[in-house]
Amino acid sequence: MGKKILVIYTGGTIGMVKDEISGTLKPFNFEDIYAHVPTLKFLKHQIDFYTFPVLIDSSNVDLKFWIELAECIEKFYEKYDGFVVLHGSDTMSYTASALSFMLENLNKPVVLTGSQLPLGVIRTDGRRNIINAIEVAASYINETAVVPEVSICFENKIYRGNRTFKNNASHFEAFLSPNYPILAEIGIEIKYNKDAILKRTQKKLSVIKTLDNNVVVLKLFPGIHPNMIRSVVETSGLKAIVMETYGSGNAPTDELFIKELEHAIEKNILIINVTQCKKGSVQMEKYETGKKLQEIGVIGGFDITTESAVAKLMYLFGKETDVLRVTALFKTPLRGEMTIDM
Ligand code: ASP
Repeated sequence: MGKKILVIYTGGTIGMVKDEISGTLKPFNFEDIYAHVPTLKFLKHQIDFYTFPVLIDSSNVDLKFWIELAECIEKFYEKYDGFVVLHGSDTMSYTASALSFMLENLNKPVVLTGSQLPLGVIRTDGRRNIINAIEVAASYINETAVVPEVSICFENKIYRGNRTFKNNASHFEAFLSPNYPILAEIGIEIKYNKDAILKRTQKKLSVIKTLDNNVVVLKLFPGIHPNMIRSVVETSGLKAIVMETYGSGNAPTDELFIKELEHAIEKNILIINVTQCKKGSVQMEKYETGKKLQEIGVIGGFDITTESAVAKLMYLFGKETDVLRVTALFKTPLRGEMTIDM
């Protein structure tokens, strides 16, 4: 039997056509979707569309947008079996990460997809992506969703959303998830990697709608001036720094640099250590340059992506005021976003 799927259109390249006169890309009326993707008619599922009142390029995503999106899923949660979110690819990994935390006890599929070429362009990847996303959102075995989590569908792969980052601005295969296996591979058949998929929960969906963006990303580079770190630390209201370090979580041992970090920690600002490497995990105890960070109270982010660390901190500080509690929760994998290797 067919499933009921809600496709939520938020903007991005996928929903665009070329304006014949000006030659620029502009969003098309989603009522014309069947003209662009006629094969949608042949899917056995009931597909409804919800278009956001203002369509955005995903570079304009903000907390308000995430809350609106989470509220939309909450509003239609009982009515539909699965959700497909059409979203620009630029910040899709951030949105997927944020939704994964905000949608507590999710037990239905929420599949984000988009495209590198607009639907209104002959060689578009959007047609395939939207159909694949709908198939995955509608995939159930005995009333249990096969992928009851927030995922990204791009170029014949299904990824855990909070494990991804946008890796390629010009290839159809735009995303990577180097630290976690793909959830499904779409070929002639859809091959689900069942062991990698989060287990369904029996609890009721609870949507968190308070987020706190007093968070910053600080990328280290050789020669970084301690004053730069001081100015970040002095940002009014700052609660956490996602610090992108080298290799397995290493940073300069220079006294002035360490002093600035200590100053932040004294001010109750959390410092999360994530690596600039795309694959692998932070292990601060491995080298002296990492050990020093551990000694002063920097928190290891294991193999979490920067995107996911930012979203997790916004979610945790939106929910909790106690820094110790945020620290404890940050160190705990909540939605399969990191692997703790001891
Ligand atoms: N700039 C676009 C966006 O992220 C690119 C895309 O849709 O892939 O909204």
